[in-house]
Amino acid sequence: MFVGHYSVAFACRTERNRIPLWVLFVAVQFLDYVWATLVLLGIEKLRVIKGFTAGSMLDSYFHPYSHSLIMAVIWSAVAAFVYRTVCGRYGRYCSKAAPLIIGLAVFSHWILDLIAHPRDLAIYDNRWKVGFGLWNYRDPEFALEIALLAGGIVLYLARNAMPAIRKGAVIAFGLVLVIVQIGDTYVPRTPLTDKTTVMGVWVFYTLFVLIAFGVEKIGTRTKSITP
Ligand SMILES: [Zn+2]
Repeated sequence: MFVGHYSVAFACRTERNRIPLWVLFVAVQFLDYVWATLVLLGIEKLRVIKGFTAGSMLDSYFHPYSHSLIMAVIWSAVAAFVYRTVCGRYGRYCSKAAPLIIGLAVFSHWILDLIAHPRDLAIYDNRWKVGFGLWNYRDPEFALEIALLAGGIVLYLARNAMPAIRKGAVIAFGLVLVIVQIGDTYVPRTPLTDKTTVMGVWVFYTLFVLIAFGVEKIGTRTKSITP
C-alpha cells in the first residue's frame, strides 16, 4: 500500500479536530518512517527483487520493530501521546479526540498494509506472519489505492471549509499522488538497493508532507492576520 495510506489522512481532518493535514500525513506513514530509518541503520532487513509480487518489489523479510502488530499498537500510542504533549507545550488547539485520531491514523497503516502485503507482517516479534497479499494482483491493488485516496479527498473537501483555490490545489495534489502511484505500480524499473529504496521513501514521504503543509496555507493569508 502506498498512496492509499493518505486517504486516512484526508478523511481524518475535520473542522472539529483541526489537526493539520501535514501532521496526519506523517501519522499515516509513521510506521514506514520508522521502517525506513531502521533499514538505513541496518536493524531491519529488506530485499528489493524485481517481480517479487505483481505490484511491489519489496521483500520486507525482517521488520518486527516497525511493522509487527504489537509494535504498531505501541507506535500508535506513542504518537497519540507525543501529539497531545506537543500541542499542550506550544499552546496549540487540541480537541479531546485529536490524540486518539492521531493514534488511529498511525494504526491504519498496519491495517492497510495487511491488505496489500504478502505474508510478511508479524503479529509479535518476527513470528506469526500475516498479509492478505493484494499486491499479487496488480490492477485490483492499484484500483483500491486510487479508490481509497479519492474517497478520502472527497471527505476532506466535504468536511472542511476552504476557499475554491485551495479546493483546486487539493484536487491537483490528489492527481499528483495518482500519477506517483501509476509510476510506482506500472512503470518498469530496475530495483535499487535496499538503502537507496528507503532513502527514496524518506524523500518522497517528506515531500508529500511539505505539499500537505503548503496546500493548507493556500488562501489563508487574509484570514490569519486577525489579532
Ligand atoms: Zn508499511
